[in-house]
Amino acid sequence: MAKPDPDKPLYDALGFESRARFWRSLLSSDLGSKSGLDPEDVQLERRLVLYRLMLVIMLVASGTVLLGGLLDTDTPTALLAFAGLSCLCLAVATVQVYLKNGTFLPPIIALALTIVGVIWSVRVGAGQQQLWLFPLMISLTALLPLRAALVGGLMTLVALVLVQGAQDLGEQVAKNAALFSTWLFSLAIMQLLVRQTDELADLALTDPLTGAFNRRYLLPQTRRHLADYQRYSRLSAMLLIDIDYFKSINDEMGHVEGDRVLKELVELIESRIRGVDMLFRLGGEEFVVLLSEVGAQTARKIAEELRTRISSQEVVPGRRVTVSIGVCDVTAVDSAENWLEQVDQAMYEAKRKGRDQVYVCKAPPQDPASVASSMQMWR
Ligand code: GH3
Ligand code: MG
Ligand code: MG
Repeated sequence: MAKPDPDKPLYDALGFESRARFWRSLLSSDLGSKSGLDPEDVQLERRLVLYRLMLVIMLVASGTVLLGGLLDTDTPTALLAFAGLSCLCLAVATVQVYLKNGTFLPPIIALALTIVGVIWSVRVGAGQQQLWLFPLMISLTALLPLRAALVGGLMTLVALVLVQGAQDLGEQVAKNAALFSTWLFSLAIMQLLVRQTDELADLALTDPLTGAFNRRYLLPQTRRHLADYQRYSRLSAMLLIDIDYFKSINDEMGHVEGDRVLKELVELIESRIRGVDMLFRLGGEEFVVLLSEVGAQTARKIAEELRTRISSQEVVPGRRVTVSIGVCDVTAVDSAENWLEQVDQAMYEAKRKGRDQVYVCKAPPQDPASVASSMQMWR
């Protein structure tokens, strides 16, 4: 199954139509009630944005040091700016890690060590001749796992304390070591932020029970497929899969068994669709599949195959689990909302006709150009 594109702009990945709208929603205090998201989702979004901002600050801070050196300005001042910004990020990271893991210890150790490292660097002075070390340090430390970077930084600082006694070892060694430990810690924190950002992005877009994409990711993806058709006449199709009489499975065998059936269904569907296709849990026992570069006829074939595959598997021992599937390809619709509506109607038609079947929607085919002119332009 296709995963969210990491290069995709954040506002897009989160389902906002434009950057401006994303920021407006973010700044307004009633994000949740406006977008209909539950408060947990809103909190996820805010944390995600916060992490990205912190990463940017860290990068700007690093740039400041480099630029400071290149422009021949007072390096300790640039280093102080870097230290201040890193400490700010670390402080926020500390609170975040506490909220997530219930412990302050690792980030506080990192924070304390970074402060010591930076103060040391400023005290011994960072000569310009060492600036070429920065890119080297970034490349080196970016390769290290988080824990190794923290331990490495700690050891460097311990070594520094020991070196302090033996002054004759040279100022140069102390300078380089202090710079290196500072970098280790900032890079370690950057890694922590990147990891948490990835985790959050995954959480924001996936359904926790089944691992399929969730409803909030569906609308932007639907719009993208429609835009691809409008711009490049690229076909795609949508399937809406609803389990028949799912309530009775729950009633007779319990919710835990019902949940297991949902997970197994997702596995079954994912094993059939291609990497470019996407599976979403719309809610309850309803799933949407977006098939790329596929017209109505192929979509019907895939839907039939999924239907027979599901009903022939013993998902629940001693009982047939069947699905009704609505199919609607992009040529039959004029907006994302209309697409979802039509595929929903097709699915209900399959139910009405007796369930355990596929129904392809019957809307008249449209010319991509006329769809383009009737579409709301968001870019
Ligand atoms: P139909 O053939 O008309 O689709 O009948 P149905 O029973 O599948 O449809 P209905 O919409 O009446 O029931 C859907 C049920 O799905 C109701 C609810 O108990 C169950 N359900 C919704 N979400 C979950 C979930 O996350 N886990 C479990 N186990 N059940 C869920
Ligand atoms: Mg159902
Ligand atoms: Mg249903």
